Amino acid sequence: MPRLVMKFGGTSVANLDRIKRVAKRVGVEVAKGYEVIVVVSAMSGKTNELVGWVNETSALYDAREYDAVVSSGENVTAGLLALVLQENGIEARSWQGWQVPVKTSSAHSAARIEEIPTDNFDAKFSAGMQVAVVAGFQGISPEGRITTLGRGGSDTTAVAFAAAHSAERCDIYTDVDGVYTTDPRVTRKARKLDAIAFEEMLELASLGAKVLQTRSVELAMRYKVRLRVLSSFEEMSDNAGTLVCDEEDIMESNVVAGVAFSRDEAKMTLVSVADRPGVSAAIFGPLADAGVNVDMIVQNIAEDGRTDMTFSLPVDQVARAEKAMAEAKDSGDINFHDLIADTEVSKVSVVGIGMRSHAGVAAKMFEALSAEGVNIKVITTSEIKISVLIDRKYMELAVQALHDAFELETA
Ligand code: ADP
Ligand code: ASP
Ligand code: MG
Repeated sequence: MPRLVMKFGGTSVANLDRIKRVAKRVGVEVAKGYEVIVVVSAMSGKTNELVGWVNETSALYDAREYDAVVSSGENVTAGLLALVLQENGIEARSWQGWQVPVKTSSAHSAARIEEIPTDNFDAKFSAGMQVAVVAGFQGISPEGRITTLGRGGSDTTAVAFAAAHSAERCDIYTDVDGVYTTDPRVTRKARKLDAIAFEEMLELASLGAKVLQTRSVELAMRYKVRLRVLSSFEEMSDNAGTLVCDEEDIMESNVVAGVAFSRDEAKMTLVSVADRPGVSAAIFGPLADAGVNVDMIVQNIAEDGRTDMTFSLPVDQVARAEKAMAEAKDSGDINFHDLIADTEVSKVSVVGIGMRSHAGVAAKMFEALSAEGVNIKVITTSEIKISVLIDRKYMELAVQALHDAFELETA
């Protein structure tokens, strides 16, 4: 029998009523003859609460215990959904990550799925199981400890199961009815896309569009998983939502597909560092060792053998970065006059594969921002995206201005 993966996010399983609605949807697919693997998130708000408890308990927490705590929300929803399905007369069983087992790396709180053996489910489906309800976001390390896959990781659990089981489709049910030209919560003019190319979705996700976890898109692209994003609150239909697919399968596409943003960014400048070979390595090496995710980097023109080095990073990593730089200065590895941190910035990006063959996208982007009086602090580009760092207070305005400038509402 064909297999289907259905994933339900936090808002879709937020309470018992919603879990019952999810069970109805699953029942519809079972009735069509699918062997269904359902991946569930924790109830909305639950993971935040668990993370909060860990932070409150211990500032320098043990990552293994963090995972033990924050993975637990998914266990509850998996068990509850299995119970409701059983009430509906469906042969369902819940599975925690270690029981499958979802084998991951040991990188606690950001583990990568390495293997999902299928023999376990194959045997159970053959023996009459109709639905396997899997707790998303979690797995087991080679050392036998529980791991989690990073925030939003249930998307990745779902796609990984779809790939491992050669599922006909992987349906990601969420609280919006598909992938939009930008977050529909920022502008009402955002337009739902019927289809989006893997590359574009990958960029949008990694630049902040949290509708899919970046790693899930990477896996779907690599293993050619038919991935669909759709609402768990609307009528079911075969062509609902947004299909994430190969570029060649999209009939028409715009130069710019969408606008993404990442609100909580920071900018740090090392003022007056020596301009000599090895200085970048001396700065970014210790930052990497401290687990700081540096994103954009700019180096100013050197004068008198000295230069300023500016980079962006997530705002919650500023303290860690300052400590790493202070230590590197103390040990004499680098020398700078001052370290300035701006914690009130956001990153806004435009993404589109059409940029490969169209000139002028950057100019249009900068004009639209300047018309709104938005100052650009740092710029980076790649083949299919342009990102700018701006003051956080202008973030929504910038997203709206770019959405208008690239005519995404009507395109
Ligand atoms: P779930 O709990 O179902 O995993 P998430 O909150 O992780 O849901 O992701 C869905 C949210 O992603 C939407 O509510 C929306 O605010 C946000 N989002 C950001 N960018 C986009 C986009 N381009 N298209 C659709 N939703 C987006
Ligand atoms: N519950 C986890 C989170 O909130 C994983 C997920 O929902 O995808 O990040
Ligand atoms: Mg999510």
